[in-house]
Amino acid sequence: MSADVQVVWSPALLGYDFGDGHPMAPLRLDLTMRLADALGLLDGPGMRVVGAEPVTDAVLETVHEAAYVAAVRAASEPGGAGDALRGLGTADDPVFPGMHEAAARVVGGSVDVAMAVWSGEAEHGVNLTGGMHHAMPGAASGFCVYNDAAVAIRALLAAGAERVAYVDVDAHHGDGVQAVFWDDPRVLTVSVHESGHTLFPGTGHPRETGGPGAEGSAVNVALPARTSDAGWLRAIDAVVPPVLRAFRPQVVVSQHGCDAHVEDPITNLDVSIDAGRRAVEMVHALAHEVADGRWVALGGGGYAVVDVVPRAWAHVIAEAVHRPVDPGLRLPEAWQAEVVARYGRRAPARMTDGVDAEFRPWSAGYDPADDVDRAVRATRAAVFPLLGLDPELD
Ligand SMILES: [Zn+2]
Ligand SMILES: [Zn+2]
Repeated sequence: MSADVQVVWSPALLGYDFGDGHPMAPLRLDLTMRLADALGLLDGPGMRVVGAEPVTDAVLETVHEAAYVAAVRAASEPGGAGDALRGLGTADDPVFPGMHEAAARVVGGSVDVAMAVWSGEAEHGVNLTGGMHHAMPGAASGFCVYNDAAVAIRALLAAGAERVAYVDVDAHHGDGVQAVFWDDPRVLTVSVHESGHTLFPGTGHPRETGGPGAEGSAVNVALPARTSDAGWLRAIDAVVPPVLRAFRPQVVVSQHGCDAHVEDPITNLDVSIDAGRRAVEMVHALAHEVADGRWVALGGGGYAVVDVVPRAWAHVIAEAVHRPVDPGLRLPEAWQAEVVARYGRRAPARMTDGVDAEFRPWSAGYDPADDVDRAVRATRAAVFPLLGLDPELD
């Protein structure tokens, strides 16, 4: 297998822009890719940066309803109207000229890297502009117009993949991807998120475990608000490796929304850059262990645009290209200066939040009175038996 890594990027992808004041500012991608470049991560042997073209309606319609695609197209015309029943023209998903093309381009990036990984042209693929996990077959939701992760997984299945695992560590439940593959035993969706009791979209409870014929194909860890590094990593460790080992995917598609960070303005988890990096390492290692290294890493949420997203996602790229960045490294001066010049403020100085991101592995035992451990146990009890695992032992 090739050791090449393919990273999706072109400035055209900045066109996915809901406008001033919307939390999902394209600036976060611009700053991320500039930082990755300044760190030297975008060149080097085996490293390819590829642009993305919008996919056709036929590709979108492997996941989305034709009537929804038509509604997005109509809303994308200058002066186009929204369609609130389809989530278009809402506060979360305002319409803008060119929206269809911009969203279809994001999908194109994810499909391309998935196909490159499946064909062996690349070992790992990264599309940080993707991870639009809330988009539903017939509706936009939660800043997501088209579900690039689901379309990419459909493309993998069409290309012959028989088992695909989707791992989502965004602070929000990966509800759209789960919904698309609810009845499909070929796709394991695993989401570790803040509980739906305190955060959008309100779903992702442990007992959501997959539909008829696909029992055990959905795995949900619903963490209490204010869960911090030790609990978040412990929850990932307690659930993700065992279910992936049991499922034996041929490809791992992961979503690295970084809105679980303590400074993120729209969620209530308290995770650090360093814990996020540990999670990426864990997913990467698992892809090598269970899927022969076939790994597609996507972006997702992340609304602390200057302070969190660029560092979090530069670490994702660094991990994928097997050139991890020393957390203590100072951010390049030129990048810092760019932030000051453009935004009149300083960015964090280093690639770390200055914490260890240590956690106690689940195998070391659990505390029945601890809220995080209770959440983890609920997930293990609900879904492990369906995957042939023992909730107490595995
Ligand atoms: Zn999110
Ligand atoms: Zn690797």
